[in-house]
Amino acid sequence: MDSTKEEARKFNWKNWSTIRQMGRYLKPHAWGYALGVLIISMSGVLTLLVTRLWGQLGGVGTTTDSQSELESPMALLQIDMQNLTEIGWAILIVLGIQAALSFSRVLLFAKMTEDMMMAMRRDAFESIISMPMRFFDTRRVGDLNSRVSSDITAIQDVFTTTLAELIRQLIIIVGGILALLYFSVTLTLLMLATLPVMILAAMLFGRFIRKLSKQTQDQVADSNTIVQETLTGIVSVKSFANEVWELLRYIDSIRDIRKLAMRGAIWRGAFASFIILFIFGAITLVIFKGAELMVSGGLASEHFFTFLLMTGLVAGSIGGIAAQFSALQRGLGAIESLMELMKESQEDIITKNDQPWEPIKLSGAIQFKKVKFHYPNREDVEVLNGIDLNIQPGKRLALVGPSGAGKSTIASLLLRFHDPSSGEISIGDTPLSHFHLTALRRRMAFVPQEVILFGGDIRSNIAYGKHDATDDEIRAAAEKANALDFIKAFPEGMETVVGERGVQLSGGQRQRIAIARAILRDPDILILDEATSALDASSEKEVQLALDRLMENRSSLIIAHRLSTIKNADSIAVLSGGKIQEMGTHEELLAVDGVYKRLVENQEIDLA
Ligand code: ADP
Repeated sequence: MDSTKEEARKFNWKNWSTIRQMGRYLKPHAWGYALGVLIISMSGVLTLLVTRLWGQLGGVGTTTDSQSELESPMALLQIDMQNLTEIGWAILIVLGIQAALSFSRVLLFAKMTEDMMMAMRRDAFESIISMPMRFFDTRRVGDLNSRVSSDITAIQDVFTTTLAELIRQLIIIVGGILALLYFSVTLTLLMLATLPVMILAAMLFGRFIRKLSKQTQDQVADSNTIVQETLTGIVSVKSFANEVWELLRYIDSIRDIRKLAMRGAIWRGAFASFIILFIFGAITLVIFKGAELMVSGGLASEHFFTFLLMTGLVAGSIGGIAAQFSALQRGLGAIESLMELMKESQEDIITKNDQPWEPIKLSGAIQFKKVKFHYPNREDVEVLNGIDLNIQPGKRLALVGPSGAGKSTIASLLLRFHDPSSGEISIGDTPLSHFHLTALRRRMAFVPQEVILFGGDIRSNIAYGKHDATDDEIRAAAEKANALDFIKAFPEGMETVVGERGVQLSGGQRQRIAIARAILRDPDILILDEATSALDASSEKEVQLALDRLMENRSSLIIAHRLSTIKNADSIAVLSGGKIQEMGTHEELLAVDGVYKRLVENQEIDLA
């Protein structure tokens, strides 16, 4: 566990307003929580009652003074406090009630929390997938996923156990101390002056010792790194004859381990002595004083017994409450980070998509006018520096250029993953930003270079382009994409499971699935990132044919790497240095002695 990460997530009370957003999840369960708190309170009071009755069992028979019981609060229960059997039965009944209460409390809290968790998980997932692309550019997906799920677990802990325990322990501490005061003010004050102080000191002590042992562990890890580095680089170590130097470096490091470990040992020893001397000492003092009071007749024996048991109960709760507080703090930190994530997605303008939308048709020409762009995380690098492009309806534009020139960036601007920093992109004279984002993307299809299939069967992977497609439509799309033959060759056909847990398809097959997906979607605009990895000749031809069918009558932007694709395009734009350097057909561009000619000569365009 990374300790700095943990600390960074600690809750800061200044951010209370973020926590208040949690209200929307709590609100539907307000009555449930009120009932829960009532049950917990009752159960806390009953715990105190049982302790009192246990104490009575321990002390009955040695006392002669039963008169005072009549005035005690216990008289309300009308239990004959001198009758062992009656007390036994009373304890049993109270325990029975408590068992029932605990059961219903656990169930009640689980039900409410699970409802809440479901809503939060749903909202968190929605927020994350509605985030703009730049959000994903700066984060590692694995980190994000594990952070959100650990946040949700921390929140779940708070609402299933932490809050309940906190309330229960507070009731036991407060109620217990009041009861103790009733039995003997002197003894209680003596107890309060010693035990809680000692317990808290022990806890601080414990935390300090854990920190020390963490330091030792870190040092051990450091020294292991030296061993690992040395062994991995053993050739360099030996060739430079640096064995002794490495050894000295290692000795330095393990010496530190010993020093830290010894320091830890001293404090651990001190801790053990502290517990024996002070905590056990405090207990002895209280028992001693109690015994003294009992002998002098100032305290009934059953009260003394009760006092001891209840002190144990209260002390246990004092010890436990700190752990609950730190769990609460972790949970509040988690709520804060989750709420911030959700707020971030709600405030984003690109993805703010809550207005209703109508299906549209993108029939006009696609135009890039003086488009400039830099990635938000790399403000100093102007990736596109004044791009002008025009794709007439139904025409194909091939985008070529050296790797890193910004071809994919142009495609992602058209998909509106990002907005240009200046200039404008429009379709049929309507700026891209005026379309509803979902409506816009519904009319586009993007066939990426590296096709990733979703876990599931081939059918559902094709239907990803149109979820309500009929079997016939899916078949027709697969056929047009030249995919039907290989799909039929699988024993399970369309039901063949692909992806991580299923059949691994070849690159060419995956591409044809992606093409079938795009055909099924029947978009107005097609964005194609042609695969650079070589396919074998026959699948190459199949893919090419499929692509030709897909591009028919659609405006297409193709990030092209193969000469055959480029030759078939209506025009070619050569991108380099953030600008369109040349524009024209294959022959026109070869005729000028420019970037395009050099790309072809250097075989950066695949002549296959
Ligand atoms: P191409 O598709 O022509 O190979 P790209 O559009 O992928 O080029 O990249 C153009 C430039 O933008 C490169 O210098 C690349 O390093 C940079 N770039 C691409 N994606 C990002 C990103 N998400 N964040 C920052 N810089 C990026």
